[in-house]
Amino acid sequence: MITTMESVWQKIIERVNAENSGSSKIFIGSIKPDKLENNILTLVSVNEVCRDLINKRYEKDINRILKEFDPGLNYEIIVKSGKNLAKPLQPSLPTLSDTVVTPVAKVSSSKYESMFNSKYTFDSFVVGKSNQFAYAVCQGVTKSPGSLHNPVFIYGGVGLGKTHLIQAIGHEILKNDPKVKIAYLSSETFTNEFIDSLREKKTDDFRKKYRKIDLLLIDDVQFFAKKEQTQEEFFHTFNELFQQKKQIVLTSDTSPDKIPDVDERLASRFAMGVVVDIQQPDLETRTAILMNCAKKSMVAVPEDVIMYLAQGVTSNIRALEGAFNSVLAFSGIMNKPIDKDLVDQVLKNMLRETAGGKISISWIIKRVAEFYDITEAEMIGKRRSANLVLPRQVAMRLCQILIDASLNQIGEKFGGRDHTTVMHACDKINKMIKTDSNFADEFERIKRFVDPNK
Ligand code: ADP
Ligand code: MG
Repeated sequence: MITTMESVWQKIIERVNAENSGSSKIFIGSIKPDKLENNILTLVSVNEVCRDLINKRYEKDINRILKEFDPGLNYEIIVKSGKNLAKPLQPSLPTLSDTVVTPVAKVSSSKYESMFNSKYTFDSFVVGKSNQFAYAVCQGVTKSPGSLHNPVFIYGGVGLGKTHLIQAIGHEILKNDPKVKIAYLSSETFTNEFIDSLREKKTDDFRKKYRKIDLLLIDDVQFFAKKEQTQEEFFHTFNELFQQKKQIVLTSDTSPDKIPDVDERLASRFAMGVVVDIQQPDLETRTAILMNCAKKSMVAVPEDVIMYLAQGVTSNIRALEGAFNSVLAFSGIMNKPIDKDLVDQVLKNMLRETAGGKISISWIIKRVAEFYDITEAEMIGKRRSANLVLPRQVAMRLCQILIDASLNQIGEKFGGRDHTTVMHACDKINKMIKTDSNFADEFERIKRFVDPNK
């Protein structure tokens, strides 16, 4: 078989699209083969956001398919700006690789820059209701490490800013004292290093390394689960540093008492100092974060688009940044203005990926609750205040329209309500749609928010 650049590329497109759903066509389709020389297939992307997105999502796939042609083949994506770009005022877009960090075990030296992501500082952290307490505690730590709050335990769901904050502490403390010895790593890395040291019979070195530092930052301690011997080792490291009044900061996806399969002794040490949580960002914080992204990207993003995006992505900040980057990327690829339609398309893709394309009663409850900024518990609960009743009725009617659920099915999922209650709710919403055009518009928007394919 003759391997030409075109045949290789054609195969990659076919295979990647067949193996992935949704947005892959758009992204993969946006890059073009440029040359095949010295075993390197050079591809061209219209901007950095697309390049990073493709590398992040499809690198493994592309490499695997390339190796089927010839094990020596590799690829690279270069950026060549075309005419159809969402023109940055300056040619710097936020790169997606910036948004995910996997900490590797590093003990600081004067070259601390490489240890932390330069983006994760206190300055770039947007403070809102959901994270202000965590932020304040972390700032407190940098003012008097080892004495004010120790240890600090930060917990919260994915993408809410834990890694950002723990690194901000590192940045700040190093700025104040460049000689300070910091170990910043994930519990996973700690575990791996410990296991290596056992294998290589170098546990003494391992111990020394971690027991002589001034600041211990451990990200994602939930990965200590079930690693009993490592937990034991960490327990001693922890105690030793703590006794020497060295600052310890930990993050996790749950509170100390809820981390599964972590020794109680260790969990109670974690909770000994200050425990703070980070919650889901409210609308105001989400808007502020997007404004920040827009400022940094140097792309003129209209305010109404920012608001619309902030309403549409509520789960976490990583997803919010991802959606923002996708909007810029889409705009570049498809040569479209950055507007609400574009946001709809991006959200549609994201939704398809998260909901697996399936709309269920639970999904409708979740999304309508998000739209009205109430909780899912309030949505299905018994309280009958006006700010809860309307969202509840809207959601019930949507269950009929979108998935053809029966009155009984709906009643059951809405806290065991009677089918006549559901019927009454649906009738009322229907009447409102007919008589109140503002409400009719809102209802349409909610419908699209729940199921952008409608
Ligand atoms: P976690 O470690 O909790 O999963 P990260 O710290 O990795 O989350 O945050 C995910 C992304 O969101 C990062 O790019 C981070 O910079 C950004 N981010 C999170 N919280 C904030 C915030 N309050 N202000 C600005 N950016 C934030
Ligand atoms: Mg993290």
